[in-house]
Amino acid sequence: MDRRTPVPEMHPQRWGDPSRAADLPESALELVELAFGSRERPAVAGARPPAPDLADDLLPGLRTIVGAEHVLVDDATRTLRTRGKSTPDLLRARAGDLDDAPDAVVRPDGHGEVVAVLEWAAEHGVAVVPFGGGTCVTGGLAARRDGFAGLVSLDLVRMKRLLAVDEVSMTATLQPGLRGPEAEALLAERGLTLGHYPQSFEHASIGGFAATRSSGQSSAGYGRFDAMVVGLTVATPTGSLDLGSAPASAAGPDLRQLVLGSEGAFGVITSVTVRVRRAPAATAYDGWRWPSFAAGADAMRALAQGGLLPTVLRLSDESETALNLADPSSIGSTDDPGCLMITGYEGTAEQVAERRSAVGALLERLGGTALGEEPGQRWLHGRFDAPYLRDSLLDHGVLVETLETATFWSDRERLYDDVRAALQDTLGEGTLVLCHVSHVYETGCSLYFTVAVRQGDDPIAQWQRAKAAASDAIVAAGATITHHHAVGTDHRPWLAREIGDVGVRVLRAVKAELDPAGILNPGVLIP
Ligand SMILES: Cc1cc2nc3c(=O)[nH]c(=O)nc-3n(C[C@H](O)[C@H](O)[C@H](O)COP(=O)(O)OP(=O)(O)OC[C@H]3O[C@@H](n4cnc5c(N)ncnc54)[C@H](O)[C@@H]3O)c2cc1C
Repeated sequence: MDRRTPVPEMHPQRWGDPSRAADLPESALELVELAFGSRERPAVAGARPPAPDLADDLLPGLRTIVGAEHVLVDDATRTLRTRGKSTPDLLRARAGDLDDAPDAVVRPDGHGEVVAVLEWAAEHGVAVVPFGGGTCVTGGLAARRDGFAGLVSLDLVRMKRLLAVDEVSMTATLQPGLRGPEAEALLAERGLTLGHYPQSFEHASIGGFAATRSSGQSSAGYGRFDAMVVGLTVATPTGSLDLGSAPASAAGPDLRQLVLGSEGAFGVITSVTVRVRRAPAATAYDGWRWPSFAAGADAMRALAQGGLLPTVLRLSDESETALNLADPSSIGSTDDPGCLMITGYEGTAEQVAERRSAVGALLERLGGTALGEEPGQRWLHGRFDAPYLRDSLLDHGVLVETLETATFWSDRERLYDDVRAALQDTLGEGTLVLCHVSHVYETGCSLYFTVAVRQGDDPIAQWQRAKAAASDAIVAAGATITHHHAVGTDHRPWLAREIGDVGVRVLRAVKAELDPAGILNPGVLIP
């Protein structure tokens, strides 16, 4: 994408580019009807957020800082900055519930203006919600407003510059408001890439990636986003942090790690310095078939522990594989599709050829069957489409949501069984639970579950019960409550169980030091 083509605003009640919204094709509708019984659920049109609840005499101060045209109180702008894009967020928006709308949207340009907005907010007791791409799925944009003089969304949309490139060290410094495609387009002009492609890539921002410790679909080759970060600048209500002065350091605990994953509760990230790579000259994507999920997962472990990872590596369980293959004419005739693995390679032509052949040889030795490039290409071209499908399914009365976690290899099977059982038991008969291994490490992997079930009368409560049961199962299995979606408001109770009392006290102490008035994202992250 050309950087002069800004990423379009998302539809307030749906995912993504409004021009790409489409109903299900006839064949898929038949499938939905068969599996769930279609029941149309039209969205409420024309809902308006509550009137702004911020004293008029506070706004002139804000306008002086950023310019009057960058303090917006109109309904349309406030609606677009209400919550994120989890299924409960979409269901609330579709029901016309805009209760979490900010009183104003403020658009600072640069670190200095962000500092000044935070000073203004601390002085007047106004809550501030940093807003990057708005793709959060854990309630991280739905801050508590009680006890505050108002709530503003601090929209980083004007901070979209590539500030510096060091082609000797291979680093780039980016402003936080750049969306995934915009950042990649700027880097591509120099023949560089970040290589961070989460499914939300088309709308999520650089600051958001850092604030949530995001992980992309090419993480096996490029690493998680937090592993790419070498430096950060952060504005807090009590001063600024400028972190990361060397590629590695023994100068005490790494304070960058306090900022990564801090979800706007400690400060606003105003620039991120990342490690970059040369844009790949060659790519290749393949499919492999495994007789079982366990056999495929063992092969992934062998690759990770043998230092032989491709750039992309993912494995669908039997149910997800069957659904990927399903079309109405093949239902009932797809005998034992096994489990589909996707492997992808990016680099120079030599690197791709060499790694592809070494990985292929090991996978064959371990019992995998090569399916050629077609499944890999199909995955590549559809990699950002699933969220649009979720909207179409919601339209037809199907409740679809995802959750993710990670654990060590030795606990993978138990975690998989326990989470599946928790979801099935809570949601009952007719529930579809799909899973894939989305990210791998030498010591373990993450599991990504997709759930589909017929919507009940109160689908939000229906999902919350299932999610609570799955979260309990995750913590009981000793796994993490989130591998890459972050904590937000939704995971807070389980975070407390994961890090224990002392861990909670550490987070609260940092919050008290950096944000004594508690104006930053109240109710998010900190238990
Ligand atoms: C369909 C879909 C698919 C997804 N797929 C993936 C995936 O593959 N991998 C993955 O990791 N995640 C995924 N996510 C989750 C989400 O995209 C990530 O958490 C993403 O990193 C959020 O970035 P954002 O710019 O949209 O942040 P936002 O949603 O705007 O904000 C997220 C949180 O960070 C805070 N924040 C944002 N910017 C800043 C800043 N500059 N300084 C301080 N705090 C800030 C916000 O206040 C909020 O608490 C997906 C979400 C959706 C809806």
